[in-house]
Amino acid sequence: MAENLLEVKNLKKYFTVKTGVRKKSFVKAVDDISFSVKKGETVSIVGESGCGKSTTGRAIMRLDEPTDGEILFNGKNLRTLSKDELRKARKDIQMIFQDPFASLNPRQTVFQILNEAMAIQRIGENGKRRDKIKNLLQTVGLLEHQIDLLPHQFSGGQRQRIGIARALSVEPKLIVCDEAVSALDVSIQAQVLNLLKELQQKFGLTYLFISHDLGVVRHISDRIIVMYLGKIMEISDSEALFEKQAHPYTKALLSSIPRIDLDSQKDRIILKGDVPSPLSPPSGCPFHTRCPMAIEDCKAIVPALENVRENQASACILRDKV
Ligand code: SF4
Repeated sequence: MAENLLEVKNLKKYFTVKTGVRKKSFVKAVDDISFSVKKGETVSIVGESGCGKSTTGRAIMRLDEPTDGEILFNGKNLRTLSKDELRKARKDIQMIFQDPFASLNPRQTVFQILNEAMAIQRIGENGKRRDKIKNLLQTVGLLEHQIDLLPHQFSGGQRQRIGIARALSVEPKLIVCDEAVSALDVSIQAQVLNLLKELQQKFGLTYLFISHDLGVVRHISDRIIVMYLGKIMEISDSEALFEKQAHPYTKALLSSIPRIDLDSQKDRIILKGDVPSPLSPPSGCPFHTRCPMAIEDCKAIVPALENVRENQASACILRDKV
């Protein structure tokens, strides 16, 4: 069995918010989560907006400094690395963002964008990276002669390919894809997902895929983590999760994926209300205010994440009845 490339242990990211004169509160964006990602695996984190999935990605990259917990990458705790060690580690962990336009400097050509990324990580010699960059463009489905174009001269899907090329340019081991295809049309989404799969095989990459859409991650994930209000509700092998869900929230998320058969419309679970404010999360199970299965105990008991079957764990006191 492949070894862990990434291990996240009891990760917390709390944001301080001013709630009045001399009054502060905490938003527990990520609240004590643990999971691991094996070498060559694709693990997806899904959940509605505000569930903490993107904050988890940013905390792993240390773009948002974690409040507590350990982030072990290849056995080294990223939280205790010196500045120079962290710069080196960042070469191995790259991020692809939702909005490629916002993450690419509009005044730099594709060559300048990739050359800069490689120079920062001291990859290749100054003045000798052009051929490698041309190769990279071909690898991600762009054309060599596009090397001197600016980001606005590309379509949305092509810009995301530039983002992928930039990530690949420093020869990473892990790529965190934060809503990497959410802004794209469905047909382009499929092309980019296929490209990511091909690149994974070619370069032995490991992916942490962050998405609000279970449908998008279905075909690329080995395992799926479902988050709600900063906590993990379910972790499961992807196949097992689509076969049988072990948490009412996963069930509701899955039922909301659009399908064309009319019968599926009847099975749709419409969740009541909005996600509660993370400033004052509900007592007990964080999902109890919207859960169609909630009982009185759910208001008081914080369910632990426990195995329901091999490779599937759920944080629900009624996990065997879901
Ligand atoms: Fe629903 Fe209760 Fe399970 Fe939470 S613990 S998911 S509220 S049944």
